[in-house]
Amino acid sequence: MAMANCRTFQDYRAFINNYGFPWEKDQAEVWQLISHSKDMNRYLAACSDPPAAKLEAALLIRDRFTIESDIHFSPTTGNPELAVKVATPFEFMCLEVLYAFEVGASFQRCEWCSNGFLTGTATGRRNTSRFCRESCRQAALRHRNKAQGDKTNVRK
Ligand SMILES: [Zn+2]
Repeated sequence: MAMANCRTFQDYRAFINNYGFPWEKDQAEVWQLISHSKDMNRYLAACSDPPAAKLEAALLIRDRFTIESDIHFSPTTGNPELAVKVATPFEFMCLEVLYAFEVGASFQRCEWCSNGFLTGTATGRRNTSRFCRESCRQAALRHRNKAQGDKTNVRK
């Protein structure tokens, strides 16, 4: 989601500072970041598409990564566990979008800051969420209350 919400060079710089480069290279061209960010936005928006369109998006996403599988032993139980590995953070983001498709999550835009966020099952947010975080909800509420206060003052 963080990559999909990058809009400015500062956003991309913050993304790299927080998560590292989305590819194995130790540097990424700005145009690559912008292009991948747009792709990620398109994939996430497909969360709210009908099943056939979602399947089409899922097939596009599938071509963007390769999964390597292995078996590890759990240090706590000693049981063998399936381990999957992707090569880059971008590939991991693709897996997350496919998981969002699988659980039926919806993609929304915050009514205050326009950042995208997922709602519904396994996202920790209700389907009716209108804001990406509490501070945006508060800011929108303050804005609305101020606007109503201004109208009240005009009438006096
Ligand atoms: Zn927001």
